[in-house]
Amino acid sequence: MAQNIRVRFAPSPTGPLHIGGVRTALYNYLFAKKHQGSFILRIEDTDRSRYVQGAEEYIVDSLNWLGIPFDEGPGKDAGFGPYRQSERKHLYKEYSDMLIASGNAYYAFDSSEELEKMREEYESKSETFIYNWHNRGRLKNSLSLSSDDVVNRISRGDHYVIRFKSPHSESIVLNDIIRGNITVDTQLLDDKVLFKSDGMPTYHLANIVDDHLMKISHVIRGEEWLPSLALHVLLYRAFGWEPPQFAHLPLIMKPEGKGKLSKRDGDKMGFPVFPLEWKNPEGDVSSGYRENGYLPEAVVNMLALLGWNPGTEQEWFSLTELVDQFDLERVHKSGAKFDPEKTKWFQHHYLQQIDNALLANQFAPIAEARAQELLNESSAEIDNQKLIKIVALLKERATFLEDLWEQGDFFFIAPTCYDEKAAKKAFKEDSPMILSQVKNLVLSIDDFVPEAISKKIKGWIVANDHGFGKVMMPLRLALVGEMKGPDVFDIISLLGSEETASRIQHAIDHIDQK
Ligand code: GLU
Repeated sequence: MAQNIRVRFAPSPTGPLHIGGVRTALYNYLFAKKHQGSFILRIEDTDRSRYVQGAEEYIVDSLNWLGIPFDEGPGKDAGFGPYRQSERKHLYKEYSDMLIASGNAYYAFDSSEELEKMREEYESKSETFIYNWHNRGRLKNSLSLSSDDVVNRISRGDHYVIRFKSPHSESIVLNDIIRGNITVDTQLLDDKVLFKSDGMPTYHLANIVDDHLMKISHVIRGEEWLPSLALHVLLYRAFGWEPPQFAHLPLIMKPEGKGKLSKRDGDKMGFPVFPLEWKNPEGDVSSGYRENGYLPEAVVNMLALLGWNPGTEQEWFSLTELVDQFDLERVHKSGAKFDPEKTKWFQHHYLQQIDNALLANQFAPIAEARAQELLNESSAEIDNQKLIKIVALLKERATFLEDLWEQGDFFFIAPTCYDEKAAKKAFKEDSPMILSQVKNLVLSIDDFVPEAISKKIKGWIVANDHGFGKVMMPLRLALVGEMKGPDVFDIISLLGSEETASRIQHAIDHIDQK
């Protein structure tokens, strides 16, 4: 592609960014980077009634957390700014005036009450009211009124909007990179409002003007904007501008496949639909992937495959690999089913990739806080080298950082009681005798590495014909408190001989007391 690739993500700051919006941002980012282009963030905030404080910061934070920062946008002007539409307000009127002058737009003075009445009349005849060629000659606008009347109304300050004059009867062919050619009959289009009485452009006008002024080469956005494509293409034509190329991404469906995944679905169905936690001004909290312990790599990988596939069996992709392989032509047309379990699968994979020392650093505050809480101590410092070894042992069983604690709490706190069901099975009459011998054995080992411990204990079991279960089950229970955890010899080695002996003794006392 010799063309200078410039794409934009153009959210409206009306609340937190839904996961569908995040995917749109990601696909824009991947496409831009693949073609050495620019990824632009444009804040579409012309509808001030829907503006939500904090939403823009949330969008920027989300992109940064995911590792897909914008190249141009608010605070990063590359000569095409400002990037907030509210700061470009002064620009749009000129463009709607241009359309009036060229006969592609007109003033409309109909009040909302009048339009409402009209709508009801149509509905009573089971028809739909569309403001367009078939009735605009009978409505209150600069096409039906005399020019004096129009000038009068404007000069006395009557409310008006500016509408696009869509062509009466024409078949236009729209091209979409993902969907191919789409033919639309302009008869069915309504004369959309381009400019509102509050002096603000509508989404349609501002979007086209900005895409043109910002030299956007490709518009990559959600399928919900496909119905607006005809109007957008007609607007480009009316201005005499070359349109960008378009790609409309498939919808993201609920996990069961029926219906669009909505903002409300997540917390209802038990998974986040937002990248970061969001607190609305009323104080309600919606959960986010970050706060739920997900790694950005997992979220990016999951989203990349939600509507796109590389045409191979590969499922794990780093961001660099995605940039390399992403292709708009391989984006699907049909809706993509959201799969929260698959996201966990990605998360498990990416947690395994984290270097043990780094993982130990991330886990340390969690482990220390939990241990402190349970031991009722003011501080619980954990030896770093030991933590690295613990993390290495537990990692495979963990999907989230928090799971490391669930899996390995016993490394930090000695069990005081034992899982009842397991105790019934493992603690037998001869267990105190067996455990006491194991304890002595453990205390006699010099080289306290798992291999040496294993060799010694296993050798003793075989020599005394005890049977493995009879020894290993009560031993694990004594050390862990339940039947979980990694290899017993690894546990013993990490606990050290004294701690192991003390835990064994505690179990012996417990059995004896019964
Ligand atoms: N502001 C629109 C939105 O919130 C942008 C649509 C587009 O990308 O053209 O999704």
